[in-house]
Amino acid sequence: MTYIPAETLAAEAKKTWAEVSAKKEPLKPKDRMAIPAQEMPSQDPAIRRSNMEEVALGYSAEEARLEALRCLQCTTAPCIAGCPVSINIPGFIQAIADGDNKKAIDILKESSLLPAVCGRVCPQETQCQAPCTVGKALKSVDKAVSIGRLERYVADWERENGLMEIPAIKPNTGKKVGIIGTGPAGLTVAADIRREGHDVTLFEAFHKPGGVMVYGIPEFRLPKAIVQKEIDTLTAMGCELKTNFVIGRTRKISDLLGEDGFDALFIGTGAGLPRFMNIEGENLVGVYSANEYLTRSNLMRAYDKERAATPVFDSERVAVLGGGNVAMDAARTAVRLGAKEVYLIYRRTEVEMPARVEEVAHAKEEGVIFHFLQNPKRILSDERGWVRGIECLRYELGEPDASGRRRPVEIKGSEFEIELDTVIVAIGNDSNPLIRQTTPGLETNKWGNIIVDENGKSSIERIYAGGDIVLGAATVILAMGEGRKAAAAMNKMLANS
Ligand code: FAD
Ligand code: SF4
Ligand code: SF4
Repeated sequence: MTYIPAETLAAEAKKTWAEVSAKKEPLKPKDRMAIPAQEMPSQDPAIRRSNMEEVALGYSAEEARLEALRCLQCTTAPCIAGCPVSINIPGFIQAIADGDNKKAIDILKESSLLPAVCGRVCPQETQCQAPCTVGKALKSVDKAVSIGRLERYVADWERENGLMEIPAIKPNTGKKVGIIGTGPAGLTVAADIRREGHDVTLFEAFHKPGGVMVYGIPEFRLPKAIVQKEIDTLTAMGCELKTNFVIGRTRKISDLLGEDGFDALFIGTGAGLPRFMNIEGENLVGVYSANEYLTRSNLMRAYDKERAATPVFDSERVAVLGGGNVAMDAARTAVRLGAKEVYLIYRRTEVEMPARVEEVAHAKEEGVIFHFLQNPKRILSDERGWVRGIECLRYELGEPDASGRRRPVEIKGSEFEIELDTVIVAIGNDSNPLIRQTTPGLETNKWGNIIVDENGKSSIERIYAGGDIVLGAATVILAMGEGRKAAAAMNKMLANS
């Protein structure tokens, strides 16, 4: 992926649009296949390295219509099967191609509560875009129809034109539902339950709602104002929001179902407990979990050095340990917070790296230095107990493991040191044990995830769960899909009780 300035892309699209729209006959499949895949305009890497603003700038109307015209409107639509919430993809894309954005957003909203979010953060290349016929014919998933970018385009069009509507709400039923956690799972359940006329109260441990969409995914990938708009819609629908409210501490599940009078509860508390490597030196000053680092930057606005109440330490040389999207977010945040050198250390190669290809490309453009086939053995301390470096080992790839990826095998005696002042551990998250520990009878699996049936119902009557607390660390769209399923079952249960 090479950076192309937004103005060049816009001029190219204008020219192509003039040619395509001048055609008298309806477009044939070969004409559609001949339209170049529309690149996403983005901020210049040299500039965006030092700001927190969104990297991807979004399609213009011409770019969106050209991209939409690339869709072959396949009768079998294999793309739909790749979407966890089965959006009518050819339907909404055809509406964009016809210039009917209102119809496009209505189709999207039949299946998704958060199209502006999913259009930005879904791993489309492994979901809806992976089976796309156009990508297959052109032998590259990068050339598939850009479903996510089109989804983002129409959701932004709706929001920017002030067309977002408050959904209709049925007459009050007098039933009360509590939702614990305000990530994509909790927000989806809140909307679906409130629409049926039930009272909804959302409980959030942090001082701001939104879950990982607000505290984890950085502003430069997902502007917080977009998530806030969704939350404003929920409050305008009459949902009550209680922040700084930790279930398991402030109130327990048994209090909510007992004296607080809730008829049903949904637990969507996510997977916010960071894993560590359990190596020497992980307790030194200058070692962060990616969760802490990103929360300080996103939620506590540590990048706003003049005004932030909880700034982060000014790092010079940072190592991020891990190869997923969280590692990319942490590394790219460190660049923006002013670190001179940021290394990403991963024990396999780029091929096995779980992060999205686009995120890796963006990180490289922004100057993150990748160290493959390396892993820290210990973190080194100076005389004050602060990080001064890491001792690393080199690896080579062996046979595939249970995940199908080739196993990294340590090369004996390959130790070497890297000088650093900050280490960010980004090797995954588990579920927080608080609710499990304070709710007798709530069944969980060996990883601490809540066990639910096919309707999202837990082992306790009237308690449902979904999202990362059930799936383990997953994705926004899967959390939303699980929320939809649980909300449907909860609405049915409430209607019959
Ligand atoms: P969460 O979003 O985790 O929300 C749970 C909420 O519950 C939190 O606000 C938490 O404070 C609250 N809570 C927890 N315990 C309690 C309690 N006891 N009482 C009250 N409130 C509580 N997915 C993608 O699809 N694309 C991406 O690009 C992507 N990038 C990511 C980047 C990062 C840094 C991280 C960490 C994750 C990323 N993910 C991404 C994963 C995705 O964000 C999650 O799968 C998704 O947010 C899970 O939604 P959820 O509603 O289950 O939980
Ligand atoms: Fe693709 Fe995600 Fe949109 Fe589904 S919600 S169509 S997976 S971008
Ligand atoms: Fe369009 Fe691709 Fe879906 Fe076919 S598979 S309908 S070309 S998006």
